[in-house]
Amino acid sequence: MLAGYVLLVGMLVMTLVRGWERRKRIREGYFAQIREREERLKVALWASEEIFWDYDLSAGVMHRMSVEEASASDHAIDLFSEVDSEHQIHPDDLLLVRERMRAHRRGRVPFFLSEHRTRGPGDEWIWVRARGRVVERDDRGRALRIAGTARDITAYRSDVRDRRIASEVLRSMAEAVCVFDREFNFLSINTAFETMSGYSDGEVHAKSIALLDNPRHDAAFYREMRHSLAADGHWAGEIWQQRKDGSEFLSRMECNAVSDAAGEDEHYVAVLSDVTDSKRAEQELRFLANYDTLTNLPNRTLLSERLSQAIVNARREDTKVAVLFLDLDRFKDINDSLGHAAGDRILRASAARLREVAPATATVARLSGDEFTIVLEHVRSPDEGDTLARDIIRAFDAPLTVENRRDILISPTIGISLYPDHGQVPTDLLKHADTAMYQAKAAGRHTFLRYTEQMESEIRQRATLSGELRKVLDNGELRLVYQPRLSLTTGKITGVEALLRWEHPQFGEITPERFIPLAEESGMILPIGEWVLREACSTLKRWRQHGLQALTMSVNVSALQLLRGDLAGLVARLLDELKIPAGQLELELTESVVMTKAEQTAGTLHTLRGLGVLLAVDDFGTGYSSLAYLKRLPITTLKIDKAFIDDIPTSADDQAITSSIIAMARSLGLTVVAEGVEQQAQADFLRTQLCDEIQGYWLSQPLDPYRCLAFLRNWDASRLPLQASLSPA
Ligand code: C2E
Ligand code: MG
Ligand code: MG
Repeated sequence: MLAGYVLLVGMLVMTLVRGWERRKRIREGYFAQIREREERLKVALWASEEIFWDYDLSAGVMHRMSVEEASASDHAIDLFSEVDSEHQIHPDDLLLVRERMRAHRRGRVPFFLSEHRTRGPGDEWIWVRARGRVVERDDRGRALRIAGTARDITAYRSDVRDRRIASEVLRSMAEAVCVFDREFNFLSINTAFETMSGYSDGEVHAKSIALLDNPRHDAAFYREMRHSLAADGHWAGEIWQQRKDGSEFLSRMECNAVSDAAGEDEHYVAVLSDVTDSKRAEQELRFLANYDTLTNLPNRTLLSERLSQAIVNARREDTKVAVLFLDLDRFKDINDSLGHAAGDRILRASAARLREVAPATATVARLSGDEFTIVLEHVRSPDEGDTLARDIIRAFDAPLTVENRRDILISPTIGISLYPDHGQVPTDLLKHADTAMYQAKAAGRHTFLRYTEQMESEIRQRATLSGELRKVLDNGELRLVYQPRLSLTTGKITGVEALLRWEHPQFGEITPERFIPLAEESGMILPIGEWVLREACSTLKRWRQHGLQALTMSVNVSALQLLRGDLAGLVARLLDELKIPAGQLELELTESVVMTKAEQTAGTLHTLRGLGVLLAVDDFGTGYSSLAYLKRLPITTLKIDKAFIDDIPTSADDQAITSSIIAMARSLGLTVVAEGVEQQAQADFLRTQLCDEIQGYWLSQPLDPYRCLAFLRNWDASRLPLQASLSPA
């Protein structure tokens, strides 16, 4: 009985022990399974960089499970599990997260999916992408728990954001931007680039950037540019490019290589701005600063620069530089009479002619008004400057063709200075060339002179004379001499010409050719001219009292007297005061005055002629005359210039010119007088050509009043060598 009891107890114990052992085995297996699963979860979480979350909706508690590498060396991974009741979502994202969760709980979407900010481990906001789904519902189907994974996408989001901002910036940039690859094919362009080039993004995509190449640059230029891009990863500069429509533009381009993570150049980004207009404006400014806008020739500034450079070159090459200073003769008169528009056209035509004559290497500049300068380089001998001056003067012998105006004949006067002979610096060379030009003008215009030091003293003398001239009337240093004029038809003395003389106590006799231009410059010619008229008329009055009633007095009148003074009023007063018949007074005006100022002087001339005064055109043939003009003016007499008489009878040309002037004058009903007759043969020729009167040394030198009166009284036509031929045939 006891044994049976023991056996029973023993069996019971065995059963218990076995049961316990089995349960223990089961338990151990279960735990091992759990451990294994946890290990897998850990690895999965670690590999996917996700965290696991489980949200208890009723308690509002969040369970989170994440892994962290315990230490870098042994690759051990720790699993963290935390319970977070105040699970924090960024207030800005909270509404959205709730809405998404609600949508899933109500079954509207199969998953809960959300990108939002939550508190990170360092208490900072981090962006997460969470994905989950309801894992437990109550009997009525209400969600109790949602579980899922989440990953930190902060870095990714900021990359995307950066990229979006970058592309937005690119799009809205005013500068044109293009991106191209290592083969120089377009990857993309921005809107500004589209506007600038005329191509759309689609049109350029994958095409070579050579699409924009401009023929202004040669192949070597592009090769060089691509080479430096490839080598240095950078290129910047100005480049002419071509738009889709073929028009060209100048762009300022900055091009840089963009490297990938491995440091390899992946692609290039070029930023371009269109600088065509600003360049053009800059060039225009430079042009305005350096060029004369009327003639497009270099101006004084550029001339000085070129001359300085020429001096430097000449010093190095041991050559000379010739500076030609040119002024157009009587340009002011032409400008005044034809108007400024015509004057401008003449200047332009003159500039063009100068450019034609001057060698291509010479600088032709316009300094001001009608003053031009030519800088001739690599000069070996001073004659080269003279040769160019001669060529220029000859080139101006042909009239200038001036649009819709008659052709204009204008002559230049040129002064020349040389480096290093006359100066070392531009200012001196220009000054000296100017001085030489001034002297050439004084020597009778339409010519050239090379600078000499003596010119300076002459200019000083002119200045002294000009000062002396102011005192000339007060000091009584002026007097008149008279040159008789002979009629070739009657053999009688018809009149005399009053010629002015200046006897300076120190300098002696000064010729009118020297001092009259000075008197005109200073305006002294007005009181002097008035003195001459009064003196000549007084002499005539005296001689009339001596019985010379038919005698005519000719008085030279300057342009200034005609333009500024009240010449008609003065003459009328004198005639009245001295009781001289108006027809006994003749006023001589040079051809250039009558021709160039015709419009301004016509009124005065008509008034004078209206008084009965005779009007003569002096020095005829030296200016540019127009018969049409002459016909319109109330001229009575034409005086042929001495220059045409000088070479008679040897020059057939001068004979022909003289006879045609005589014929022309007679056809206009003018009295024609030949000046400067020095030889019998000249007088004979003129008589055969039916010239009315002659004047000159052959008949008589200009004489002082007493000798002249004697000459007139003693004049005996029968003593004249022409006598025989003068008698009527
Ligand atoms: P013009 O009116 O043509 O005067 C003629 C000039 O030729 C005078 O020179 C005279 O002396 C000179 N002459 C006359 N016959 C001969 C000749 O056979 N051979 C040579 N070689 N010369 C001859 P002049 O007196 O020296 O006067 C020069 C110029 O000065 C004049 O040229 C005239 O334009 C101007 N002039 C003279 N007196 C006056 C004046 O009172 N007022 C103005 N405004 N000008 C004057
Ligand atoms: Mg005269
Ligand atoms: Mg004359």
